Amino acid sequence: QGNVTFSHVYFSYENADSTISDMNFHVQPGQMVALVGPTGAGKSTIIHLIMRFYDCDSGAILVDGRNIQQISRSSLRKNIGFVLQDVFLFEGTIRENIRYGRLDATDEEVEEAAKRANAHSFIMRLPQGYDTVLTEDASGISQGQKQLLSIARAILRNPSILILDEATSNIDTVTEMKIQEALQQLMKGRTTFCIAHRLNTIRHAHQIFVINDGKLIEKGTHDSLIEAH
Ligand code: ADP
Ligand code: ADP
Repeated sequence: QGNVTFSHVYFSYENADSTISDMNFHVQPGQMVALVGPTGAGKSTIIHLIMRFYDCDSGAILVDGRNIQQISRSSLRKNIGFVLQDVFLFEGTIRENIRYGRLDATDEEVEEAAKRANAHSFIMRLPQGYDTVLTEDASGISQGQKQLLSIARAILRNPSILILDEATSNIDTVTEMKIQEALQQLMKGRTTFCIAHRLNTIRHAHQIFVINDGKLIEKGTHDSLIEAH
């Protein structure tokens, strides 16, 4: 589980020139793909197409051999976890926010996901431990903690496909290290598409897709791309 194929995918936003044109690739289960390229190249559009925020104009996107337009959005998204820059939080506790999208999860499962997401910053502030903190209101948490919460959500969903947008924002170094470590754990065994900003992520990618002007202009590993230039 976790095969993703683009076959002659074209997409344009309304009243805009072609944004993605004739994109073709296949990603094997468990592979990590780093999407790189200049601003406006189409990287975000690619991940939005995979999540079916938009449907492509022609061609096909297949997940495990099935055209995603023939899968309901909700069952498609059950299989896809995302950790993006903007984390959607609603009014409620941290626990309720982690449980978002997996309402059947028990308190123990939520707690386990929070631990696996390396969300130590939720505990360190308070001596009482996880339980107390998970029942705290989510509105007061920092940008870095939002990212950890988002990782915990994704862990709880246990998806075979993962979509990451690496933050370049001003998160403190210690939290940043926790986020990176949690992401490494989360990515293991899952097909991952990462809009990559960090050299380290690019080094570890199984494949790097260089996107420019809506096209996949080059792909390879870190070493093969360096050798080619
Ligand atoms: P990247 O993520 O590589 O920076 P994007 O996928 O965000 O690139 O953008 C690709 C192109 O599509 C850009 O020219 C951008 O201005 C345009 N674009 C992105 N989102 C929209 C939108 N919602 N409506 C119209 N044009 C958009
Ligand atoms: P529904 O199918 O009714 O939308 P789901 O249980 O599939 O309900 O999911 C509820 C929402 O949770 C979905 O919109 C899903 O996209 C969202 N969601 C929240 N956090 C995440 C995450 N980290 N990864 C994937 N989906 C998430």
